[in-house]
Amino acid sequence: MNITTKRLKELEELKELEFRPLREIRDIQEERFQDLLKRAPPIYGRYLREIKDLDDLTSADFFVYKDQLRTRGRDFLAVPLTRVSRIFSSSGTTGPPTYSYFTKEDLEVLDQLAWRAMRRMESPEETFKDDIAMIDAPSGMFMLNYTMCRMAYQSGLTIINPNGTLSEIVRLLHEFNPTVYMGYLSGILSLMESFKIKGGLERLSSIRKVILIGENLSLARREQLRILLNRDSGGLKVYDVYGMSEVCQTLSSECKFKVGMHMAIDHVFFEVIDPITHEHSKENKGILVITTLTKRADPLIRYWTDDYVEISYERCKCGRTLPRIVFVDKYRNMIRVGDEHIPPSRIEAVIFSGEFAPIIIDYQAVVKGTLEEPVLTIKLRTIKRLNREQISSLRDMLERALKIHVEHVEEESLTSVKREPTRMQKRQRVIDKRRW
Ligand SMILES: [Zn+2]
Repeated sequence: MNITTKRLKELEELKELEFRPLREIRDIQEERFQDLLKRAPPIYGRYLREIKDLDDLTSADFFVYKDQLRTRGRDFLAVPLTRVSRIFSSSGTTGPPTYSYFTKEDLEVLDQLAWRAMRRMESPEETFKDDIAMIDAPSGMFMLNYTMCRMAYQSGLTIINPNGTLSEIVRLLHEFNPTVYMGYLSGILSLMESFKIKGGLERLSSIRKVILIGENLSLARREQLRILLNRDSGGLKVYDVYGMSEVCQTLSSECKFKVGMHMAIDHVFFEVIDPITHEHSKENKGILVITTLTKRADPLIRYWTDDYVEISYERCKCGRTLPRIVFVDKYRNMIRVGDEHIPPSRIEAVIFSGEFAPIIIDYQAVVKGTLEEPVLTIKLRTIKRLNREQISSLRDMLERALKIHVEHVEEESLTSVKREPTRMQKRQRVIDKRRW
């Protein structure tokens, strides 16, 4: 165990909060929001003039967008730069990088949330105390790497932290036989692809648990990972963690029941907004909008995350009252058909099922046509070549499941790829070429 008994007692008290009635947590949110109103930086000035409490906030008519953070990032600072302890720079995969700022207090909250995220996954039968974690977040992913190291450290795991190159990962797998893989979905997929191309997938045989952050993890995808790694059901536990680098990457995580991720609403206030009407969603499905309640350095108020989510509020089987969030996907990855939004998980439910699960490793959907009548091309990355009947039956199954015309199903087989797949970036699985 890395942390002291006194510290552990403090953390256990924080965990207890996750089981309290929601109205009690709402009181904590309100109290923290009142404090936020006092220290919010001037950039929010005119927006907050009429806002006295959280109810007022939900009827406000502004959002903060990522582009504003890119162009006016420093204006969101509520403290002098000299009080900031750490600045993280985003990888900039979807545009210029953004910076997120953390004071000492913010880093302490990050640690608490990292610890809570890990504790939710544990049960008396399932703990991490004897585990060795390999953290696979290459050096370009500073914040992911930092966050995962804190999660593992706080939970007493032994950490190995390769630099992201295949040769070092192979060496460390051989040397230490890690039992937990911590990283991101595209990372473990590219690792498996490299092993499929060069041989050596059995090197991952010591891995029993996989903890992933930052990409959609559908049920079909989890099953696919298990099949690709040759595990029996129960032989691989996959846990999902969700957050965003602008706030904290461990805002929510799954408990052992895996029915959505419990969100730490004592640190954030959230709203779910219909992406088309910009009204609050009645079905609790839409864009997650976050107000940070405790962030000291750069507090965000009504931050439009651009993440499409679904929320449920019933008490979980684990006893927690904290609402559960399903991260459906980045909004840009949802396939819009008129006013409907089709999640990519519906593609995954087809291509990672039955005879295709051990063959298809990843995909990309290219959307053309019109808003009302999209046309899809599905590009598959396969371990061995599919025959013509399989391609045609996949196309039919995809059309039925998505109710969208699928013009082509194309494949790139790893048997014809000699180059190692690119690491260090999250893959974009939907590319929408339409304009509306
Ligand atoms: Zn639960």
